Amino acid sequence: MLPTLVILGRPNVGKSTLFNRLVGRKIAIVDDTPGVTRDRKEAEARIAGRDVRLLDTAGLEEAAPETIQGRMRASSEAALREADLAIFVIDARTGLTPADRAFATWLRRQHVPVVLVANKTEGRFGGQAAFEAYELGLGDPVAVSAEHGDGMGELHDAIREHLPERPEAEEEDADRPLRLAIIGRPNAGKSTLLNALLGEERMITGPEPGLTRDSVAVQWRDETGALVRLVDTAGLRKKARIEKALEKMSAAASIAALKECEVAVLVLDALLGMEEQELRLARLAEREGRAVVIALNKWDAVEDRPGTLRHLNDVLTASLAQLRGIPVVPLSAQTGRGVEKLMPAVREAYAHWNRRIPTGELNRWFEAMLTRHPPPLAEGRRIKLRYATMPKARPPTVVVFGTRAEQLPEDYRRYLVNGFREAFAMPGVPIRLQLRGTT
Ligand code: GDP
Ligand code: GDP
Repeated sequence: MLPTLVILGRPNVGKSTLFNRLVGRKIAIVDDTPGVTRDRKEAEARIAGRDVRLLDTAGLEEAAPETIQGRMRASSEAALREADLAIFVIDARTGLTPADRAFATWLRRQHVPVVLVANKTEGRFGGQAAFEAYELGLGDPVAVSAEHGDGMGELHDAIREHLPERPEAEEEDADRPLRLAIIGRPNAGKSTLLNALLGEERMITGPEPGLTRDSVAVQWRDETGALVRLVDTAGLRKKARIEKALEKMSAAASIAALKECEVAVLVLDALLGMEEQELRLARLAEREGRAVVIALNKWDAVEDRPGTLRHLNDVLTASLAQLRGIPVVPLSAQTGRGVEKLMPAVREAYAHWNRRIPTGELNRWFEAMLTRHPPPLAEGRRIKLRYATMPKARPPTVVVFGTRAEQLPEDYRRYLVNGFREAFAMPGVPIRLQLRGTT
């Protein structure tokens, strides 16, 4: 899904002209069938080096049944629900009108970033209207002429500043290592597992700038060629064998490693199962916002495999609901069986953890959730949820806006979090829900 930009403003300010200018060609995917509400125009465009989806609301307001403003608002509201960014256009030649002001007041409350554009500023127009535009409280206006193409560079810059952050995995630095922690109680098999993962020849170690002189980073390429770095704040000493260092790894070291890592592999001794100590580590990982994968080790020594899995599943369901669906990889670090399944599970968890759902897609899901179960009353008053955004991933963070949203009871929050996890397939990933009350 591409970031979605929607162009808004009263009729005749130049929305269509700007749309065509931004798309770079004259296209109009308009459904002109008489009697049918006109579809808005939509196109893909490359803006500020990014592919985006551009929506034009021009024309929607023309059929104005009651008031133009009411009509504008309804159609804009629908378009805005899908938007990551609004481009609000005013006409610098006519100056601000009451309709512009009303529109801007409404727009300021929509919790969508806005780029304000003063159009038709070619020739002697510009200065005055741009000055006036500050009054709208929508930030610095960008002066352009959609018809002549003036100011498009500045507009691209302004848009770039507001586009949602790219998932880090997508960034130029493709060789950024995935930071992995291997945690678990002593004797669970952590060092055996690490050695099985590494294989001498793939192991890359080297002095790291900024680390203590005798520290080394354990880093390797997995079978897909992706770089993985072991996080071990207990510090691997240059001369020490890895086994030795990990042998001493205490619960405190696990906790420290959790702060540094992106994905934590929790190693269980399958003969012992998930006990209080392991649950504590998993909950800590969740609190630190890390993705978790369980390595169910010593699988070779387990006699009742289905029973072991069933029991583990029961414990996870009952005691670790906040990481619902956590992936479990049965393996034997000693014989190597099943070890090859671990890194794919880690990379998948990492991808989920990194994933940001575009605002439009998120709100389609959000509305379906509200329709299925409307929010309950809080102290006898309705809670009106309006809108959701996902400002960041790592871990996935959803912000819900609405009247009295902060009074949402715990079970409804869980309903939203679990629904989100299911709809966007994010098993075993901590999900943050923030509620923002609006007036
Ligand atoms: P919309 O109703 O907001 O989509 O506005 P249009 O794109 O249809 O433009 C309305 C009118 O303004 C048309 O006559 C355009 O040619 C004119 N227009 C659009 N951009 C500019 C501009 O930058 N300068 C001038 N002078 N006229 C413009
Ligand atoms: P750590 O303290 O978590 O690093 O655990 P180690 O890797 O030192 O392993 C602890 C003990 O468990 C050692 O005696 C290992 O040989 C044994 N062990 C590790 N992995 C396996 C396995 O997959 N199967 C069996 N049967 N024993 C294992």
